[in-house]
Amino acid sequence: MSLLSCLHNDLRTCVNLLLPAACPWCGALLTVGSDPADICADCQQGIQPLPASHCPCCAQPHATRSNTPHHCEDCLRCPPPFSKVHAVGLHAGSLKEAVHRFKYRDNPGLNISLGRLMTTSLAQTLGPFQPDLVAPVPLHPRRLRSRGYHQALELARPIARQLRVPLAAQLLQRVKTTPPQQGQNAADRQRNLRDAFAPGAPLAGEQILLIDDVMTTATTARECARVLREQGAGNVQIAVLGRA
Ligand SMILES: [Zn+2]
Ligand SMILES: [Zn+2]
Repeated sequence: MSLLSCLHNDLRTCVNLLLPAACPWCGALLTVGSDPADICADCQQGIQPLPASHCPCCAQPHATRSNTPHHCEDCLRCPPPFSKVHAVGLHAGSLKEAVHRFKYRDNPGLNISLGRLMTTSLAQTLGPFQPDLVAPVPLHPRRLRSRGYHQALELARPIARQLRVPLAAQLLQRVKTTPPQQGQNAADRQRNLRDAFAPGAPLAGEQILLIDDVMTTATTARECARVLREQGAGNVQIAVLGRA
């Protein structure tokens, strides 16, 4: 470590000790000495975990409580081209608010804290799945220009670093913009997403961990995973912050 970076780290430690950081999710002051990417206890408690009764494949909470793990109707009727969805929690409470702010405003503290939350959660749920590549769900260049920010890529970066796996930002391309999916039925969503993604370089059986911020209907994840499998991917799993 260079002298300059030693000094920089010492200075940062001093600043953290003297000036308490603010919670990147709600702005509340954190206890002195906290890391600027930590979130406060209230925000932490506001994260609602997935209910015990959820689909082991797509993580959709079951409408009725059940003690036996079983697939949801969607996955039974039409098995998805991915094998599992990892979610930090429900798309509700403090996590939903943080994701909303993350999507529409560029706040570096937010993406660090959300990325960290996702890597901690993945460490507990990945099990024997060892991805060869980490890839974000792609954003259309026009959307990227208007938003100035690709939230799935911002999440994928720290996850790839933490898992020590290459980040493949161009693995899929978004070649078609689609209207917002809310209020559309499943058939419309699927029709709109047809040909929305184009494959990048061919794959040879690699295991892919695909990252997105929220999963509502799984239509986007299904379409991305389908294109990846056609491209030659082996197993595809999905990681999101919130599952609706
Ligand atoms: Zn907070
Ligand atoms: Zn399912």
